[in-house]
Order: sequence, then C-alpha cells, then structure tokens
Amino acid sequence: MLIVMKADATSREIDNVANAIRGSGLRAHVLPGAQRTAIGITGNDGVINAAAFENLPGVAEAIRVTKPDKLITLDIRQEKTVVRIGDATIGSDELAIIAGPCAVESRAQAFAVAEAVKRSGARFFRGGAFKPRTSPYAFQGLGEEGLRILAEVREAYGLKIVTEALDESGVDLIERYGDMIQIGARSMQNFSLLRRAGRSPLPVLLKRGLAATLEEWLLAAEYIMAEGNYQIVLCERGVRTFAQHTRNTLDFAAIPAVRSVSHLPIVIDPSHGTGKNYMVASMARAGVAAGADGLLIETHDQPERALCDSTQALTLGQYEQVVREVRAIHETLLSLTTVTLG
Ligand code: PEP
Ligand code: MN
Repeated sequence: MLIVMKADATSREIDNVANAIRGSGLRAHVLPGAQRTAIGITGNDGVINAAAFENLPGVAEAIRVTKPDKLITLDIRQEKTVVRIGDATIGSDELAIIAGPCAVESRAQAFAVAEAVKRSGARFFRGGAFKPRTSPYAFQGLGEEGLRILAEVREAYGLKIVTEALDESGVDLIERYGDMIQIGARSMQNFSLLRRAGRSPLPVLLKRGLAATLEEWLLAAEYIMAEGNYQIVLCERGVRTFAQHTRNTLDFAAIPAVRSVSHLPIVIDPSHGTGKNYMVASMARAGVAAGADGLLIETHDQPERALCDSTQALTLGQYEQVVREVRAIHETLLSLTTVTLG
C-alpha cells in the first residue's frame, strides 16, 4: 500500500502516519517528492486495512499496490532519484562519469589511472578489489589491500570510490574504505547480498544480471529499497544473446523502459556491454544520446597488460577523448528544451 500525503502536509503529520504504520508492525518508507510525500508500506503478509491510515490528518489517499515492486516505481515518486555522495551526484543534470580499471592491480597503476580520471572532470573512480572471475584461476583482485589503495586514491584526488562487493563481508569492508557499493551482474540475484546492501548507509550501483529481464532487475533493486536504502543507480551492461560480435548485447531500450516505470537513475556500461576497445566510444556516445544519467567506463594506463578485461579497456588518451565527446552530446541535449532527457 502507498499512502499519498497532501501537498501541504506538515512534517509532523508525515511522522504521525509513519509511526502509525510502524505501530501496526509494518515498515514505513517515507519518500519525499517535489510535489508531495508518499509513504510506502511493506512488511505485510496479507491485505492492509486502508481505513487505519487514510483518515489520518494530512493524508490525501491510500492506494493499494498490486504489482510485485512498489518502492522503485513512479507511483511512489514521480521525479527521478538523485543519488548523492557528498557534492557528486548521479541522476541530476550533471552527467556522471564513473571510470577506472577493471581491477586495482597496484598502487602505481591505480594512481596513474586516477590521475587521468580526475583530469577528465569525472567524480567517481571505479576499480575492483574483489573480482567475480569466470575462472577460479584468473586474477581475483587484491582484496583488502586493493581497498586500501582505493582509499588512498580518494584521499589524493577527492574522487568517490565505487567498488564491488561479492558477498556480505565485502559490504562491511567497502563501508570502511569506499563510497558506493557495486553489485555485479553475477550477483544481481544474490538476495542476501542485496538485503545487506539495503541496510548500508552507502549508495548502490546495481548492474543488470547476465540475462536478466527488466522486471528481475528492478525487483533486485526493490530488495535493496525494501531494507531502507533508497540510493540506487541501475547499470545496463548488456545481456547475453546469440550475437557473436560483442561480449554482450547492450540494451539501450532499457533507458526509456526504466524511465517509464521507475524513478531510479540509470547508467550505461559500454565496456562490459561490448567487451571490445574499438566499440566503447560509439556505444558511450549512444548511451548519453539515449538519455543515460552517466557512464561506467574501464580504462587502464597499459591496457595490453591489464590483469582483467584487457580487450575492452580504453587507453587513458582514448578515455579522455570519449569523455569530451559525451560531455558535448550531453550539453547539446540539455540545450534542446524540446528533448526530455531519458
Ligand atoms: C566489472 O564491472 O568489472 C564486472 C565484472 O562487470 P559485470 O558484473 O557487469 O560483468
Ligand atoms: Mn571489468
């Protein structure tokens, strides 16, 4: 159930409704919007008695939600969620660039890449310390040592650190060293990990599963929100199809499809979406033109020597060039008042 408050409801009336919901043994999710505040109710086994809440002061209406997802929907929040880490944002008018190597390999490598990422004007540095590799014999990441290097990068460059958690203990560590938790494609339906991320104070970058439908992906986000973490960014990184010319098939239609049902921001990952260096720039431009809130791009100071995903890594020069291009496209879109972004 969704309780929609009147536009002029006071914060006291909102608190009062939330407390009444909690008093009934249910969970209240208070989501303020530009026009009005909505309060999502979860934790019920059966039908909720609307009469218990709809006559409370400040309530405009109680809406029964029959869909499996509630909190990610536009029903609860009409305007896009803006994810904030300090003064860096994802989902605002600013194009978010999240960039770095697939894996942190050494302090020298991380710093060389961070230097270029910082110079490009990006706000987010992304590097893996715990890597979900297909082969158990492939480089698995530096672990906590990698996180310590990332924390040094944050200190030196003021970049926000995005890094992947493979399990719940990984979330504990990222809370110590990082700024944003990445949940990778292979973990998109690791429900205990989703729940743990939902209890974290850090925002979450949720990648689309290897062959996940839109609904499965959004329900994974709903798992996180149901625990009380509303700061989620969706990341389209391609899905498996019969195509042989790319590592994955990037689904740009996911951008308007997400927008039509959800308030969550969405970024495009042209690196894993293609798996090929020469395809990354054009797919990055296409993603921004299609209205993505940002990009996740892998870049390396020596791509040919990268321990992970070397075929898709951009050189630092290629990376800086593509950032210039996508910024120009984004600026153009913003200046076209007839175009609604995404
Ligand atoms: C990654 O971001 O390096 C990664 C492993 O991506 P994905 O989970 O999308 O495969
Ligand atoms: Mn990678």
